[in-house]
Amino acid sequence: MTQPADLMRAAVLATPAYQVVDASGMIKLDAMENPYRWPASDLQAAWLEHLSKAALNRYPDPTARELLPLLRRTQGIPDTAGCLLGNGSDELIQMLILAIQGSGRPVMAPTPSFVMYEVLARACGVPFVGVPLAADLGLDVPAMQAALAEHQPALVFLAYPNNPTGVLYPAEQITAVLAANPGITVIDEAYAPFSSHSFLPQVGHPPGLMVMRTFSKLGLAGLRLGYLAATPAWIDALDRLRLPYNINTLTQLSAAFALQHQARLQQQADQLCEQRSLLQAALHALPGVRQVIPSQANFILFQVRAGQGTATYQALRDAGILIKNMSHPNGGPLQDYLRVTVGTPEENQAFLRALANHAGV
Ligand SMILES: *Cc1c(COP(=O)(O)O)cnc(C)c1O
Repeated sequence: MTQPADLMRAAVLATPAYQVVDASGMIKLDAMENPYRWPASDLQAAWLEHLSKAALNRYPDPTARELLPLLRRTQGIPDTAGCLLGNGSDELIQMLILAIQGSGRPVMAPTPSFVMYEVLARACGVPFVGVPLAADLGLDVPAMQAALAEHQPALVFLAYPNNPTGVLYPAEQITAVLAANPGITVIDEAYAPFSSHSFLPQVGHPPGLMVMRTFSKLGLAGLRLGYLAATPAWIDALDRLRLPYNINTLTQLSAAFALQHQARLQQQADQLCEQRSLLQAALHALPGVRQVIPSQANFILFQVRAGQGTATYQALRDAGILIKNMSHPNGGPLQDYLRVTVGTPEENQAFLRALANHAGV
């Protein structure tokens, strides 16, 4: 009998499938979701009305004729750039890696960063080069320049701001990386709604500069929709790797509806930014918090006393609050760091109370 190991690469079988912790009944502050649903009952009804147009007996529009122009206009994609939609930005990352798979050149990203760059590179059999961040969790530009020269990557991913740190690297540092990379640089702006700077206006200058964004962190994680802006030549090439109907009909209709009410979603993002400041200050004031990393995203990375990271995570979990534990049993740069997503004022208060009362931080 043929076993998976007979036919599949050992590197793939060595990695467990993506794990998601069951959050039933818990306050869920682990995955950078927007805590709010559609802003009001009037919008809920209008959305359902809009969805009733869906012809689910037909395949989705493969070119997203209605959604794409609206998305281009509302997101400010430069007229000179092309745009490709993905089933979440995860799918776009996968398409980019598949595109360069035969080049013999690696994928590179600073580490720690968004895990899917490495996970998907390994799944596609493409080498991954991680360049450690500086001690202050900023970008180590000389190390990036040296690694670019040494490894000649086909693709460099820069999460901007970075996940899991929330750090928005100074724009000059990104520019320095762009100047040193003749290949593709993907600026992953998943947290653009919460951040103060974007490279979207500069897409295609230099030609390898691409910008990727998602609707997930803005409040539509359940839709699975991301987009990539790049030169028309690159979009045309990447489009050949896209599955024909990758954006389903309900997502196309819902996203178009959401963009017609974009101001409401941005209002929620602005509220979350206010909550982020309050949460940041409250964390700073706790005696057991050693560090709070200033964030330009909808989450905050913070460090507790030495050896207390996993115990703190567990105590919060026992108290019904799920965040993300960044410590690893075998060490790593984020020992005793925890990542909390900014929630509603009530959720944030519950988290802070549990941190002080149950976790003794
Ligand atoms: C969450 C996240 C994504 C994934 O977005 P999806 O569109 O939900 O697949 C991509 N990049 C970064 C940096 C993220 O944090």
